[in-house]
Amino acid sequence: MENGKIKKSRAPAPARRKVPARPKSLYSQDELREIFRRFSIQRPEPKGELEHVNPFTLVVAVALSAQATDAGVNKATRALFKVADTPQKMLALGEEKLREYIKTIGLYRNKAKNVIALSQMLIDRFGGDVPRTREELVMLPGVGRKTANVVLSMAFGQSTMAVDTHIFRIANRLRLAPGKTPDEVEDKLVRLIPDEYLYHAHHWLILHGRYCCKARKPECERCVIADLCKAPEKTCDVPAPLVELPPQLYGPTP
Ligand code: SF4
Repeated sequence: MENGKIKKSRAPAPARRKVPARPKSLYSQDELREIFRRFSIQRPEPKGELEHVNPFTLVVAVALSAQATDAGVNKATRALFKVADTPQKMLALGEEKLREYIKTIGLYRNKAKNVIALSQMLIDRFGGDVPRTREELVMLPGVGRKTANVVLSMAFGQSTMAVDTHIFRIANRLRLAPGKTPDEVEDKLVRLIPDEYLYHAHHWLILHGRYCCKARKPECERCVIADLCKAPEKTCDVPAPLVELPPQLYGPTP
């Protein structure tokens, strides 16, 4: 109070909602939309290649797939999931027998330990169900951010971007969303990819990387975005004919 007058207090300005800025990109929004439009014609309903029968088996399959091929994991889990498709059945099977099922997969001893521990945690903390938030999923032993993103997308239909080796390579090679870490690439891609394409973008990029924009030598003459691509090492400017491909193509994984 000054000189007997009451100073009027100003109402605080309403907090502005922070809209994340679109990261800098060599690609215009129109070019990005065109890239993903073409991917959507090639593979209208892309699917992950890891076989699973419910959210629990998906968590297990993704946890087993670290540094292993999807085809190798599928071979082992086909028999495993017939006997253990819930956390309860996995615990009943036990670590020793689980190891027998997955011994063809790299790092299987450690992975078996994690699968048993995560089954126990699902029962103790989540009533035997797979949780639906990233924060809860990453609490599970052997489940990192990438695994959590795959589960949120494939089991619960959320738009996420799980950056694997293919996506990391493509984002950097094409100068699409260059970044030094998977988290940096994930953050940029999520903000760059047009909303209407974000849900399937993860699978489109993985499949494009696995079968066309390959690690050692990209097959640019087979590429449907060859005219738009800004990779310095591309070898062709003419896009391949835009035709629908089979939803899943199995082949030797590079
Ligand atoms: S043109 Fe070549 S480098 Fe570019 S996305 Fe296609 S395959 Fe990859």
